[in-house]
Amino acid sequence: MYETPCLYIDGEFLSGEGRKTQDIINPATHEVLGQLPHATRADLDRALNAAARAFETWRDSSPMQRSEILRKVAQLSRERAQEIGRNMTLDQGKPLAESVGEITTCADHADWHAEECRRIYGRVVPPRSPEVHQYVVREPVGVCAAFTPWNFPFNQAIRKICAAIGAGCTIILKGPEDAPSAVVAIARMFHDAGLPPGVLNIVWGVPAEVSDYLIRSPIVRKVSFTGSVPVGKQLAALAGAHMKRITMELGGHSPVLVFDDADVPRAAKMLARFKIRNAGQVCVSPTRFYVHQKIYDAFLETFVETLRGIKVGNGLEADTQMGPLAHARRVPVMTRFVEDSLARGGKVVLGGEPMGGTGNYFPPTVITDIPEDAMIMTEEPFGPVAPVVPFNDTEAVIRQANALPFGLSSYVFTNSLQTANRVSRALEAGMVNINHFGSALPETPFGGVKDSGIGSEGGSETFDGYLVTKFVTSV
Ligand code: NAD
Repeated sequence: MYETPCLYIDGEFLSGEGRKTQDIINPATHEVLGQLPHATRADLDRALNAAARAFETWRDSSPMQRSEILRKVAQLSRERAQEIGRNMTLDQGKPLAESVGEITTCADHADWHAEECRRIYGRVVPPRSPEVHQYVVREPVGVCAAFTPWNFPFNQAIRKICAAIGAGCTIILKGPEDAPSAVVAIARMFHDAGLPPGVLNIVWGVPAEVSDYLIRSPIVRKVSFTGSVPVGKQLAALAGAHMKRITMELGGHSPVLVFDDADVPRAAKMLARFKIRNAGQVCVSPTRFYVHQKIYDAFLETFVETLRGIKVGNGLEADTQMGPLAHARRVPVMTRFVEDSLARGGKVVLGGEPMGGTGNYFPPTVITDIPEDAMIMTEEPFGPVAPVVPFNDTEAVIRQANALPFGLSSYVFTNSLQTANRVSRALEAGMVNINHFGSALPETPFGGVKDSGIGSEGGSETFDGYLVTKFVTSV
């Protein structure tokens, strides 16, 4: 049974009761799964006041208490992964194995935050005169407002919540209205783990209205957003106008550089499978494929054949490897990428058209012979469309890789240590993966440069955005 999602404010689960609602749609079948209640102004005010009141005590909670709650949430995530995963496949569309994998991986994120929150240290600064005592402490920033997207509904939300709560902050999170079940499941786990009322609050609504109201509130001291670059810039501007701290995890357009000394069949197969993960709706998805001229044909053949063999279907079916796009609105966007490429002389060597029938299905698509200014080479596809372009010259391909305003992830395939070192230094990206995909672990920082964002989540950096520095001196 798909449980109808609700609001979670001041420790209470709230639904219906005359609130405006919106349909929750299954992207594989277009069935209405349930009704999502929107927060009223009074609900938002209640969440703000609850978070402010809870901060007064939560800020002084011991890191051991925070750690214990985060550990319990990790354990509950593992216990409830199947049930939460099934609901996430119903409202988001990804294959069940990916949904369940997202939740169990996030149990590790909760464990990591449980460990790291006990290590938020200050320092003693040697004084200039012996009677002075001076030290630096890091304190929780206060009430946080967070906004998370629909592509990894569980992952994006739990990472922000664990970072805020582990640091001693309280948080109001607006999750993705299109795929809400995972965020409500997170609220239930924190509730069951004994989190005091008001420390975590979950609201839903019209995204721009909720974010505008929360960011302008003097109660909110920190804004964290994961989503598209244009929305991130709007929220960052508003946060700046009100002098709020920000963490921005925004879009990318990750270059892939496959050199002629790489293990070509391995690279082509790995990249094909990684490309269709979550139907390509991943901010670190490999999206611009630059392949050395000498191995271009061999790479393309294996890449296309691997993608041709991908089983696309309803995420609840056991043999499905790629589900539908999360929204009907994303299907015409994929078609626009293809049409623009064709208009510029590109060739579609696989896929290229919506699959028809019910559900937001668009097949794995490979496009070749396209210029650098094609839409698919300059705008993040956020779908299963892959442009493959040959290169000859290392310096030139590095310039191409760095040419866009984005700088999130990047991928390099080479068996030369010298090339790996040279390219990893030169790429303008927050993450460089060489010969494998190793980003987004709890113990490693995840974040972008340039238009791809500000700040990191995960790693020992994870609490940086949720803490402020205070210097104390006394005689
Ligand atoms: P969009 O720009 O309308 O929305 C992106 C996300 O931001 C959604 O979750 C949405 O609910 C939220 N959002 C939109 N306006 C907001 C506002 N004013 N305040 C708070 N939240 C707001 O685009 P979309 O059609 O939902 O997604 C398509 C694009 O979004 C993709 O092309 C991709 O670039 C980007 N995206 C990125 C990520 C990521 O992980 N970085 C995740 C989802 C979407």
